Amino acid sequence: HKMRKRKPDWMKMEIPGGENYTRIKAKLRGLKLHTVCEEAKCPNIGECWGGGETGTATATIMILGDTCTRACRFCAVKTSRSPPPPDPEEPRNVAEAVAAWGLHYIVLTSVDRDDLPDQGSRHIAETVSNLKKRCPDLLVEALVPDFQGRPEFVEEVAKSAPDVFAHNIETVEELQGVVRDRRANFAQSLKVLTMAKEMAPPGTLTKTSIMLGCGETPDQIVRSMEKVREAGVDVMTFGQYMRPTKGHMPVSHFVTPEAFDGWQKLGEEMGFRYVAAGPLVRSSYKAGEFYIKAMIE
Ligand code: SF4
Ligand code: SF4
Repeated sequence: HKMRKRKPDWMKMEIPGGENYTRIKAKLRGLKLHTVCEEAKCPNIGECWGGGETGTATATIMILGDTCTRACRFCAVKTSRSPPPPDPEEPRNVAEAVAAWGLHYIVLTSVDRDDLPDQGSRHIAETVSNLKKRCPDLLVEALVPDFQGRPEFVEEVAKSAPDVFAHNIETVEELQGVVRDRRANFAQSLKVLTMAKEMAPPGTLTKTSIMLGCGETPDQIVRSMEKVREAGVDVMTFGQYMRPTKGHMPVSHFVTPEAFDGWQKLGEEMGFRYVAAGPLVRSSYKAGEFYIKAMIE
């Protein structure tokens, strides 16, 4: 009989409900759209789809297939050296479906496609531009791979004009090699965020996220935050790492809600446009609501 680290109470989820949530959920039926929110059984679905105080409904969808060329130690997505080719109709079909859905903020995420000559950058950029054409009022966040740091691929997506260009550093600088695939690293990710800020139309926000509970120290978190801020990144989010299966990297510790509040406060003092931090926070957590609030201020 082995002792297992039990989830603290604050990691438990609530049953979603509310008017906006129910409408968005009903509308999704019949649309050929798979959301990360539902497929990953995300605990925040009620809050995100509900839209909160600003009524800004947020959802996340994944493009470029369900198979990644990388194998990060924390991630449940399946891996292959040669995933199936992307569906060339996807950029158009996704835009049609999202337009019919009636959301306010969409996060487009994707697997990494090191197998494709352009790393999938054109496909992502086309999806963003189609979305913007079909629904000019929709806010679009592109949460993208590092494109191996290649400027021309970062530029392609930045110029497609998402409202938010996001790329996750995932963990502190010191733990990059332990947590992420060996092709990823801190300097390359910061470079991607810096380039995106320069290349995107003025007003585009850049955003990154880290998971806590991977073995990092508070000092390491502070130093990584400073470097992210120096790279001109506007938004940062902090969540708790959760091990998807026993085959994945273990959780080092559960960070308390109070400690997350501390990171949020520090981030705000450091000048981030907004910071989301909490045990159940993922990078897309209430992204629309936070975006609107940050823009009104
Ligand atoms: Fe969907 Fe992200 Fe919100 Fe979860 S946090 S419900 S994945 S938008
Ligand atoms: Fe998962 Fe992204 Fe890493 Fe691929 S690159 S294994 S999708 S975290």
